[in-house]
Amino acid sequence: MSVLVKMEMFSTGTMTSPLGLFLEGETGSLTYPIPVFAIEHPEGLVVVDAGLHPDLARGKERLGDLDSMFQVQLPSDGSGTVGPLLSSSGYDPNQVALIILTHLHFDHAGGLIQLPNARIIVQSKEWEARHDEAAVESGAYNPNDFDLGHDCQEIEGDYDVFDDGSITCLLTDGHTAGHQSVRVRTVEGTFVICGDCCYLRKTLTNEHLPPSGLDRRRQVEAVRRMAREQSDGASLIFGHDPEQYARITSHGLSAGV
Ligand SMILES: [Zn+2]
Repeated sequence: MSVLVKMEMFSTGTMTSPLGLFLEGETGSLTYPIPVFAIEHPEGLVVVDAGLHPDLARGKERLGDLDSMFQVQLPSDGSGTVGPLLSSSGYDPNQVALIILTHLHFDHAGGLIQLPNARIIVQSKEWEARHDEAAVESGAYNPNDFDLGHDCQEIEGDYDVFDDGSITCLLTDGHTAGHQSVRVRTVEGTFVICGDCCYLRKTLTNEHLPPSGLDRRRQVEAVRRMAREQSDGASLIFGHDPEQYARITSHGLSAGV
């Protein structure tokens, strides 16, 4: 049986950071999207990544020491976070059944508070690392983002969420302990939501990695895995690529984007 789903992409505001955080050795800065995805599956509404925490629309205190590296642009009326974005597209955030997290960094898990009834799907290695002292100390992981009492389904490795091939988690660790990407078969074609294993198209085409990350060898493996997905016919959606996001905003989510 082949189930094809409908998917929409949003961005919870934007952030501006040194470009060298994304592409080692580069200078200048990058203003980039913070993507979240809504997927209509016959068994329920699925969201991939939750984006920024709503408090960041009111001030940057929540970022702590990270605020020198990440400048947040999020509408102060609160309209830019995952809950209101879903509502504006006709979805009820309270009805989100599953929230698949690529990983637990603050720009991916922050909006969980607006999806109170969703079950989290996360790699067990990522969940086990959620209180990692260095990551919490640096602000990369903020336990207040994800320790909210959601049901949590920990998975290990690749996982076909509905056992019908429509939404498949792909282990692409290296950026973090249990980072994952998500392959989605839609009416418009097959997409892979890379997450942060592949920040930008340049990460893929030049294997140009960021300076940071948990395991450089595994990061290279993950980028190569994304390249194989592309050779197999999937359209890759990069983690924080402003040029690609602008194209998706103007032309919609179509194959080859
Ligand atoms: Zn990110």
